[in-house]
Amino acid sequence: MKKRYDIAVIGGGAAGLAAAVTAAGRGRSALLLEKEKRVGKKLLATGNGRCNYTNTAASVRDYRGGDPAFAAAALERFGPAATTAFFHDLGVLPYEEEEGRVYPLSRQAAAVLDALRFAADRRGVETRTETRVTAIVPERGLFRLEAGEAAFAAKKVIIACGGMAGPELGGCRDGYGLLAALGHPVTDIAPSLVKIRTENRLTRPMKGVRVLGRAVLKKRGEAVSETAGEFLFTDYGVSGIPVMQLSRSLCFDEPTAFALELDLLPAFSPADLADELKKRRADLAAAPTEDFLIGMVPKKVGQVLLREALGKRGGVAGDLTDDEILALAETLKRFSLPVTGVLGWKEAQVTAGGAETSFFDGATMESRLVPGLYAAGEVLDIDGGCGGYNLQWAWASGRLAAEAAVSALEKKDDSN
Ligand SMILES: Cc1cc2nc3c(=O)[nH]c(=O)nc-3n(C[C@H](O)[C@H](O)[C@H](O)COP(=O)(O)OP(=O)(O)OC[C@H]3O[C@@H](n4cnc5c(N)ncnc54)[C@H](O)[C@@H]3O)c2cc1C
Repeated sequence: MKKRYDIAVIGGGAAGLAAAVTAAGRGRSALLLEKEKRVGKKLLATGNGRCNYTNTAASVRDYRGGDPAFAAAALERFGPAATTAFFHDLGVLPYEEEEGRVYPLSRQAAAVLDALRFAADRRGVETRTETRVTAIVPERGLFRLEAGEAAFAAKKVIIACGGMAGPELGGCRDGYGLLAALGHPVTDIAPSLVKIRTENRLTRPMKGVRVLGRAVLKKRGEAVSETAGEFLFTDYGVSGIPVMQLSRSLCFDEPTAFALELDLLPAFSPADLADELKKRRADLAAAPTEDFLIGMVPKKVGQVLLREALGKRGGVAGDLTDDEILALAETLKRFSLPVTGVLGWKEAQVTAGGAETSFFDGATMESRLVPGLYAAGEVLDIDGGCGGYNLQWAWASGRLAAEAAVSALEKKDDSN
């Protein structure tokens, strides 16, 4: 353990890479320790391989956790415009899609990772992969980091180990363990931005079918959150970005108290829809009942909904009674699927919960318990929705931690 680094960063993911590049960019010796064979494994999987690296609208309102306001300082200092500029400087041009989602112009997550890796190399970051830190020991004004046979010494340490989401992409509990060993409380954690399991009697026959609509998540009949967009029926329930957004409300609750209510024709009011169906009954009077909804919703969806609203019913559309038309309109507007749970960590995009933020200073990301120790990214109890918010948090908090650690070192240099 000869060399003493100014700053050691544990975790070569989004937050850790941003922190190491920032620290080295300010002329400090930076060590980046990553347990996997290569850094940024998860980054490559983000945005379906395209990396939705920020959102132009991201602000503190978009984050959850015990105290989301904790994220305010980092997001103000290194908000979406600063993120775009940071990557632009590293060679990545932005491409903005709908709802403010920003991707690299090349639409390749590898571009974001390469830009960070090359910047780290150029700036002299020493990167050690396959190096899993198992202990952080504050010792005589320094930190000793233990990693199997190896040990490292650093003046400042940034923990950027991420959370449990995506275990095959590096997700693990290590960060929580390292922080807990230093006295930091960690909240309960749960998989979030994850597909929802529902009773699948109705979804299984529609497996693979996509519909555009609105969804309301109800808890014992009361609406708790709602979204709109494209839904995908699966053999276990429902998937798609809007469903993943809703999954956050299930994290720390009893999933079976909830139902997912889909509005499959949001452009119609219930009364307009009933009128449209009555007109259709006249126009398509000779059509078999099971084909009555073809052209309004996908065929398989129409058949399932007709069975659900009317029971097993043959005959032709012209025979439908007014009551049956109303029942059908109700089912199309409020197709209710009882929730049975969510898929697990392997399918989750983010961890809800983490190290309690009240034990860190939001202006610097420094621990209030262990001076010189910082944390950034998903390991903290801050999470955002789908759309670039979680990476935005990782960059902002990682950069803030590095800037603050460097400033603290500079202050010390001046006073010596
Ligand atoms: C499939 C998928 C798609 C996603 N898509 C998007 C998206 O498009 N946009 C978006 O904003 N967010 C997306 N996210 C979420 C986003 O990727 C994460 O929130 C973000 O990567 C968190 O950054 P982080 O640096 O805190 O953690 P991570 O990126 O998880 O990095 C932590 C790193 O620390 C390493 N590590 C852990 N413990 C140790 C240890 N003891 N020693 C050494 N190294 C250690 C891990 O191996 C890992 O490489 C997605 C997530 C997933 C799983």
